[in-house]
Amino acid sequence: MRTLIRKNPKPSVLVTGGAGYIGSHAVLALKDSGWPVAVLDNLSAGFRSAVADDVPFYNGNVGDKDLLLRIFEEQMIGAIMHFAGSVVVPHSVANPLAYYHNNTVNAHILIETAARAGIPHFIFSSTAAVYGSPLVDRVSEETPCAPINPYGWSKLMTEQMLKDVSFAGEMNHCALRYFNVAGADPDGRAGQSTVGATHLIKVAIEAALGKRDSVAIFGTDYDTSDGSGVRDYIHVTDLAVAHVLALEALIEQPEQSLTMNCGYGRGFSVLEVLDAVDRVTNNKLVRIADDRRAGDPATLIADPTKIRETLNWRPQFDNLETIVRHALRWERKLCENC
Ligand code: UDP
Repeated sequence: MRTLIRKNPKPSVLVTGGAGYIGSHAVLALKDSGWPVAVLDNLSAGFRSAVADDVPFYNGNVGDKDLLLRIFEEQMIGAIMHFAGSVVVPHSVANPLAYYHNNTVNAHILIETAARAGIPHFIFSSTAAVYGSPLVDRVSEETPCAPINPYGWSKLMTEQMLKDVSFAGEMNHCALRYFNVAGADPDGRAGQSTVGATHLIKVAIEAALGKRDSVAIFGTDYDTSDGSGVRDYIHVTDLAVAHVLALEALIEQPEQSLTMNCGYGRGFSVLEVLDAVDRVTNNKLVRIADDRRAGDPATLIADPTKIRETLNWRPQFDNLETIVRHALRWERKLCENC
């Protein structure tokens, strides 16, 4: 397999979870940059329609070793971008073992199978939840990792496996720690279609379009400027492009592995996000103050210095209203299909 990889200047990239929200945008970014792509997704949260017909699609599980080996062979896979996983913090608090199974055990199988097959590069969808409730204003990669929920732990454990496997010389990897991902493809080709979404911007837009009656504000007594939680919202397309740049960096420097925050370095409170949705939709959301949600830190804002310097990443959509506008356009499209 290695011989085939070396002959092809742009080896195929296997995107797990490529039918899901972030994965489908990564597929677009890879294709836009001329990378051959294949997708593995069990469609538990993703949609077959999110993957273009010209992309080889495998319906199955990341923990299915035989299927992985078949895909590696058939598609001449030279790199993996691993998005498939469970992502809802409160669900992880309620069902920790399901999270450890899906996010950690299955990742172990994928990493082991990839290492044995000689796949040289691995990009991992990690999360700012590995930092827990950091005591700093801006979270850098040097900020100690101290997850406060099973979701963060399940991802941190996978990061550790990747570090150890890379140290052993079996591959190199990049762990990208996402802050709060939102928005949709600016050309309207993809967006978040998740059923029963829990993430703030998606929930607020569904409410603005009448799919929900109101938006709950989870916690109004945090130690923040207005008492609601503060997050660093990053546009999904900027994030997808960061994955392509990370892949190129891994190929260019095969001895190097990377861990990088993905955020813009500024935060918005829940109330500020809802204000932005009101402005963009020219509407007034019904807001309901609610209790804090289990496992939620008060503030999470990235220090994005490392990713900007290492990958020369230059975000194009660092604007809350743009993020909301793109998300709204996608949501309207979903309504048309209802
Ligand atoms: N949030 C909220 N109402 C909602 C969903 C989220 O107040 O319906 C708050 C949540 O408590 C946090 C922020 O919005 O402060 C972002 O939460 P989200 O679930 O979008 O992402 P997370 O930070 O949990 O990954």
